[in-house]
Amino acid sequence: MATKFVYEVEGLSLDNNALVLNETVFHNANGYIGVRSNFEEGYPQGYDSIRGEYINGFYDIAEMKQAEKLFGFVEEKQTMLNVADTQGIYLSADGEEFSMFEGEVLSSRRYLDMEGGYTGREVTWRSPKGREMRITVKRMTSFEKLTLFTIEYTVEALNFEGNVLLTSTHIGDVKNYCNPDDPRVAGESFNHLVPVRAALEGGVSCLVTDTSKSGLTVCTAVKNVLSKEAKEECFVAGHRAVCRLSTYMEKGECITLTKYSVFVDSIRHKDVMEAAKKELEEALERPMSYWYQAQKEYLDKFWNQSSLEIEGDDDLSLAVRYNLYQLVQSVGKDEHCNIAAKGLSGEGYEGHYFWDTEMYMQPFFTLTNPKIAKNLIAYRYSILDAARDNAKILGHKKGALYPWRTIMGKECSGYYPSGTAQYHINGDIAYSVTAYYLATKDLEFIAEKGAEIIFETARLWMDVGHFYKGKFVINAVTGPDEYTCMVNNNYFTNVSAQYNLHWALRFYELLKDAGMLDKVKAKLGLTEEELEGFKKAEECMYLPYDEELGINPQDDSFLSKPVWDIENTPKEDFPLLLHYHPLHLYRYQVCKQADTVLAHFIFEDAQSLETIRKSFEYYEKVTTHDSSLSTCIYSIVASKLGLDDKAYMYFGDSAKLDLFNTHHNTKDGIHTANMGGNYMAIVYGFGGLRLKETGLYFEPSLPKQWTGYKFKIKYEGSQIQVEIDESGSTFRLVKGDARTIFVYGEEYLVEDSVKVPLKRVR
Ligand code: BGC
Repeated sequence: MATKFVYEVEGLSLDNNALVLNETVFHNANGYIGVRSNFEEGYPQGYDSIRGEYINGFYDIAEMKQAEKLFGFVEEKQTMLNVADTQGIYLSADGEEFSMFEGEVLSSRRYLDMEGGYTGREVTWRSPKGREMRITVKRMTSFEKLTLFTIEYTVEALNFEGNVLLTSTHIGDVKNYCNPDDPRVAGESFNHLVPVRAALEGGVSCLVTDTSKSGLTVCTAVKNVLSKEAKEECFVAGHRAVCRLSTYMEKGECITLTKYSVFVDSIRHKDVMEAAKKELEEALERPMSYWYQAQKEYLDKFWNQSSLEIEGDDDLSLAVRYNLYQLVQSVGKDEHCNIAAKGLSGEGYEGHYFWDTEMYMQPFFTLTNPKIAKNLIAYRYSILDAARDNAKILGHKKGALYPWRTIMGKECSGYYPSGTAQYHINGDIAYSVTAYYLATKDLEFIAEKGAEIIFETARLWMDVGHFYKGKFVINAVTGPDEYTCMVNNNYFTNVSAQYNLHWALRFYELLKDAGMLDKVKAKLGLTEEELEGFKKAEECMYLPYDEELGINPQDDSFLSKPVWDIENTPKEDFPLLLHYHPLHLYRYQVCKQADTVLAHFIFEDAQSLETIRKSFEYYEKVTTHDSSLSTCIYSIVASKLGLDDKAYMYFGDSAKLDLFNTHHNTKDGIHTANMGGNYMAIVYGFGGLRLKETGLYFEPSLPKQWTGYKFKIKYEGSQIQVEIDESGSTFRLVKGDARTIFVYGEEYLVEDSVKVPLKRVR
């Protein structure tokens, strides 16, 4: 059966937790703007709601209070802003206001249509005085016109006739959400927005707003169009615009209010007000059917490039599809932005970009839509100077150190032990550039941007590390596991640095051979001598290994610590970070997330299978998976080791994280890294895909819970469909030239289609 494209919930719960969760789950985004799925009419007083509309990359600067101001500590952070509230639509029929919290809800449903690219809410409602009406709301953030958000609000008078008033609001003086008790969202509420201008012309309201400190400006413009002639009364008061539309409805009649909102910012436009007006005009020039059609075409193309289907488990298949949809909603579409840890769905982590992008989300785009991956790298390139400055602040004389979390390039991490100290972000970014190259062989882009990133990150390793007793060591850093901080020789960091140095050398050669080296070489002042240094460090990189256990210790001190008793820790104490002082955690062998196990997936050739097996078994016992970036990696490595039940168990846990709110914080936003990790668990885990310099590899296996699965990838410009079922794995060339692949180590040429029997039937 073909996978469903619609995720829906019927009989809506009005419980506050469910409402706030659904604000995230059904949000609309297109990579540029994101709108939480708030009820247009709001909730009653006393209900909590995170009402927000965001622009990717648009931020203000907030003070970061440091109790002790040591040198180089971060004192300011960027924060993604809630820029306006254009969602408000209030309906009243002869004075009776529509609210799901009053009268009687006869039926209700919410849905996300991932083929059409819109969300909806449908409610049949009986007012306290017995008026019955059907309200149908359809919302879309357009992929075709990134500035545009539309709401189609339809009212059907089921059993009455009378005067109906629709009040549509456009509010510019909004604030961000805050929760002083949760370290994962902002603790204080700031006034980040400064009203500049409010204008009303021909029913179009324009609100121009400055940020308080970052020097940015945004203009939101709104226009309301009613399907029926109505009395229209619009006015502006302060930084708020209101438009009232009143009309008489006959029994059985339907009217639709179409509310167009556009968002334009000064990062991308010179005159924001002019640009907003123009964008709005263009939106209004075409009927809504045009925008829906364009949305569908964009998504047809997206699914055609990246669809992933699981046969034999429709719910799971839908959850995976939901995850992929969230990735395309979240990813920035220009080089001014990236993918925030919560996408554009909420304010968790303040809209910051982390290593999550390169290690968890970018792989999906690298394999299915390399243009987007290229954009993500271009963003990292655009903040390379800031990364150079960051390196200087940290005392490095050369190279670039990418900030652990950021929007515009400056470090925003307030707690450096599990922030700035995660130097592996350099290795992660370098790895993603290499992966892009391996998938596309786009050496031109490497010459233009990628190589500079690789050389500058490589240089940083030479400055942070040093030779000690013949080995290249890297001290005082933090690996991916945030329960173990400030250590010497974190295995993941060292092996990623080694890979980074290796590829600096390889790209040097490749560019030299292609006659494309001179520009970047001259720009960076690279010398053969420096390259020799890279080579020596790569060869002598210290990779901790414990003879007795036959594993790679997470770092020099990890194994000397007592093991945390996970089994006997009360359930309510998880995640540990919310219940134990960090220092307490640091003194134990306890991991928040995959660290060495992640290294065994990403840099698998650095160790024997036996070491990887033993490491996996060891770290499994000391990992809490308190981070949503963890179980997917355990699933991949379990697949590699043939631990099929475990692979499935870890996979099953992660696929529905947001739909079932298993981490209890989806209200703050989706977990985009987990979503990308979920994709990887199928394609890299069950499919056994690896991108290496020697080629494209597969080790397919079929989970016994499924009858089959299929996905498409792009490799060196050709599109290949991979179908795995009990009869074997079929590799079909969909587009482009024939490509060589390796399946279970054997070489095949995919010209038309190649079928290889499954080695591992579970
Ligand atoms: C994880 C980090 C991750 C961050 C943002 C943290 O909980 O430990 O690895 O980058 O969340 O998703």
